[in-house]
Order: sequence, then structure tokens, then C-alpha cells
Amino acid sequence: MKQQGNFLLLECSEFREWLKKQSVTRNIRVLQVHHTASPNYSTRKNQDHFKCLEGMRNYHIDTNGWAATGQNITTFEDGKIAISLDRDLNKTPAGIRNFNTGCICIENIGNFDNSGDTITEDQRKTIVHLYACLAEKFNIPIDTNHIVYHGWFSYTGTRLSDYTPGKSSKTCPGTNFWGDGNTIAAAKKGFIPDILAEYNRLKGKTNINEDGQQMTEVEKQEFNALKKQVEDLVNSKDSLKETNQQQDEYLKNVDERTKALENKHSLSEIPIYAKEAIEALSKLTDKNGNKVIDTPTGRSADFYSIITVLYRSGLFK
Ligand SMILES: [Zn+2]
Repeated sequence: MKQQGNFLLLECSEFREWLKKQSVTRNIRVLQVHHTASPNYSTRKNQDHFKCLEGMRNYHIDTNGWAATGQNITTFEDGKIAISLDRDLNKTPAGIRNFNTGCICIENIGNFDNSGDTITEDQRKTIVHLYACLAEKFNIPIDTNHIVYHGWFSYTGTRLSDYTPGKSSKTCPGTNFWGDGNTIAAAKKGFIPDILAEYNRLKGKTNINEDGQQMTEVEKQEFNALKKQVEDLVNSKDSLKETNQQQDEYLKNVDERTKALENKHSLSEIPIYAKEAIEALSKLTDKNGNKVIDTPTGRSADFYSIITVLYRSGLFK
């Protein structure tokens, strides 16, 4: 922050805190948008900021016959912001003829008409931040009724339906302003959404998604709801997986125990004591001619014992 002559020069990062401390007693309801046309990026080469500002002031006083610098605020191509001390925020500016009451006039240095200057990233960032901070401070809606281009007014200060060559007093802020133009549609396409996004960022109302796009409050709520659903799904999938693993473990256990039981009970060979009884039993058929036993091998020890006892008692004879 540097004060010299009739101006205070701020870094973009200093503006919001500075603005919060300002006591503004007049009712602010509109923010004007201008370009200077001259000075511009060509005249600004290697020029001191204060020299540029005092030059504008001299022109406004000496040539235009105004009482002070016309604008309240000026933005530079390097992103710096100047406050006019002779036209502080409590003073009505000289920005749009017959349409200055309740306005703050912001002059953006550059010629943003077609084939003029291409706005720098630094100045773009400063401009959106500046308008967002002013909207925050003065509670101004971020739309084309409250953030207005000079070119939407006639020479006598009548608000036109749009920028209209022949009717508009000027092309200001430039026929290629913001890379979109100076119409209302152009403002609604790029400039206004950019300010809104910055405002939401300042108020902590947005997230940045993976594409680097700003999310609106509604989008953020939807995103968080979706995120919660996904988290719940992942959790239930995990617990399901755990249950499945437990079931697998249990089944494996049962399987092993069953096999052990089977091994314990089924004998790989027919015991010698039972061979004669099993042989006799294998030959037995029922009244329909079907074999009484199909599987004489691999039976349990109890089975062979019982068969032997029955055989020896003469039952199969
Ligand atoms: Zn203008």
C-alpha cells in the first residue's frame, strides 16, 4: 500500500481488508464498469503508476472542468488498484453523465475495443475480486442491473435496453471487453458469472471441483449428498465383504470337520472280520431281484460290526 499525491495504490490482496475498514455514508447501489481507452497498455509501458493517475486527474480537471478525478477506483494491467483520494468512496463520481448518484465509478486502464489491448490475467483477477469485494461491502446484487457497462447508457444518461451503436454514448468498457464484448448478453456470459464465482469464493460458499470449475451452493449440496451416498456404499460393501469372508471361513471350517468325521467313520478297506458277512450280503437280493447293498466298501466300522453280527446270527442265510 502506497500513498502519493492524490492517490492510494494497493495490491489486489490488500483491497478487501482496506475496503472493510472504510466508512461509507452515501447509499451505494450500482457499480459502473469503464475502460480508459487512453491511457492504455501502450502508454503504460514503463510508466510510473502515480504519473499515470495524476495525468488522468489533470485531464479531468483541466480539460473536462471537473472538480476532481472522475473515477473512485482505477485498476491497472499489473493487477494493482488505485483509490482516488480526491474522489473517495463518499463522493459521487463523474462516470456516466446523469447516472452517478449511488454509483461507484471504476476505470479499468486499457483499450478493450476490438483490435485494442488484450486484458492481462492479473488485471482480470483484480477486476473480478474488486467487484466481488464491493458487492460484499455494499450488499449489491451481482447482475446487469447493478453492475453496469457505460455503453448501456445514452449520452444523456438514459438506460438503454442494451449496447446500441448510434444510441450508446460510448463503446466503453470496449467492444472486446472480457473477450466477450460489451453487450448485456456478453456480460451475462462471462463477466457477471466470474464476479459471482469470486464472491462465492470469498464467502466460502464454493468448492472447486476436479476440473477447476466453481460449484454453486446447490451443486455443492448435491455433491455432498452424493459423496455421503458413496461413502455409505463403500462402508456397506466393506462390511458385506467382511461378512462374506467370515462365512467363507466358517464354511471352510465345517467342510474340514465333515471330512475329518467322514474319514473317521469310513474305512478305506473292509475289515477282515467282516469280509465273509459283506460277501454274503452282496449276494443277497430282495423279492424284486435288486441287490440289498450297492456299496459294500468305504462304510463305517459300526456298519461292518453290525453286518458281521447279523451274518453270524444266521440272518443272511
Ligand atoms: Zn466509460
